[in-house]
Amino acid sequence: MPLLIKNPRIITATDDYTADVYCESETITRIERNIDPASCAKGTELIDASGKYLFPGFIDPHVHIYLPFMGTFAKDTWESASRAAIVGGTTTLIEMICPGKADSPIEAFETWLAKARGVSACDFSFHMGVTRFDPQAERDFREIVRRGVTSFKVFLAYKGALGVDDRELYHTLRLAKELGVVVTAHCENETLVDERQKELLAAAKTGPEYHEPSRPPYVEAEGVHHLMTFARQTGAEVYIVHTSCDAAVREAQCGIANGVNAHIEVVLPHLVLDKTYAERPGFEGAKYVMSPPLRGRADADAMWNHLRSRTVSTVATDHAPFDFETQKTMGRQAFTKIPNGIPSVEDRVNLLYTHGVAAGRIDLHTFVAAASTKAAQIFGLKGKGTVAVGADADLVVYDPNYRGTISAKTHLMQTDYSAFEGWELKGRPSVVTVRGQIMARDGKFVGKLGHGRLVPRTTR
Ligand SMILES: [Zn+2]
Repeated sequence: MPLLIKNPRIITATDDYTADVYCESETITRIERNIDPASCAKGTELIDASGKYLFPGFIDPHVHIYLPFMGTFAKDTWESASRAAIVGGTTTLIEMICPGKADSPIEAFETWLAKARGVSACDFSFHMGVTRFDPQAERDFREIVRRGVTSFKVFLAYKGALGVDDRELYHTLRLAKELGVVVTAHCENETLVDERQKELLAAAKTGPEYHEPSRPPYVEAEGVHHLMTFARQTGAEVYIVHTSCDAAVREAQCGIANGVNAHIEVVLPHLVLDKTYAERPGFEGAKYVMSPPLRGRADADAMWNHLRSRTVSTVATDHAPFDFETQKTMGRQAFTKIPNGIPSVEDRVNLLYTHGVAAGRIDLHTFVAAASTKAAQIFGLKGKGTVAVGADADLVVYDPNYRGTISAKTHLMQTDYSAFEGWELKGRPSVVTVRGQIMARDGKFVGKLGHGRLVPRTTR
């Protein structure tokens, strides 16, 4: 059904103006000061957006949905995660494909794709995890890029599990440079993490509060430095995921000053939480275990500053949903066995608005750029990330006057807890569309599962 959105204040990464927006056949076809409903197709639905913002649909470029872990699985499916994303204003997700070292990359690609296709309510794409690099794997990666998944993911952490060695890292970056795709990287020095974990456990320091000391900021900074060195020699474009601290950002800036084409991502938990949450008594800290870990307040403040100055390009989530009662508790005897992740795909936009825009830390344009536009540009998501004639009609009519609270009792994510239980929200989407279809109204999912599709992507 065609849509006419009347009187919103349209905010993009660069513009701020009031106009009417008309959408038909999945795209925005008119933006004018005053569109007469009589000039629109029969059956056009009218949305009064007076006093509200109109943002481009938000993009979360770093989520985990299908995620096997230690004999169990992360809690969300594409059904639950895409509904939660949409209600929270996110209309496109990029998921990490994480094959085991022995798995065939192309089979992993097909497994992950099959979980989303025909099920997801929102649009989607993937980063192809490179956990092994040999001639067979290389053939698969070339084929996966041909099929439109134009970014890789490497882990410099997770020794013996998902991590690549230096030779594999080098050849992954070379291939990415040749194909014109971006390499996203989890940067921590795996040997230093591994040794410190053993020392802490041997000293009976087993609780969740020891997770952060097991991987301090300088160990993350070393990982970034390492990636920058390899990117400099290969000329590959790189993207540092979930950068948590000032020391890591400084290493990235140093690489950029040396000519490296690098982008920096921060994830919501590193902005709004800090390590005192992981220090909560009674094992509650396990709810807040992720890697890199939550840092001290000074680092969280530094990340806000880097976001405001646009040194940080994107705000993602690293959504990785595990239950507290039955899954996080697998690490009661040792923090190294706590499944990593803080579920937040539903809350990212509203908490970034509340603690960023409403709190005066970032302006509206930085908010839109970091939560939508930059991800579309960096990852070549065609038609996404802006409000313009010809763009996909992925739109968020946003009510800045809404007031409410977050609770696991009402959220659509499938985890049994919220890391933000009882937190106040100042703002919420009142209407969310994905390619012209109304998918959410005032916190309720009203769309159809299976509407989402694999987004066509460009290479450099
Ligand atoms: Zn991740």
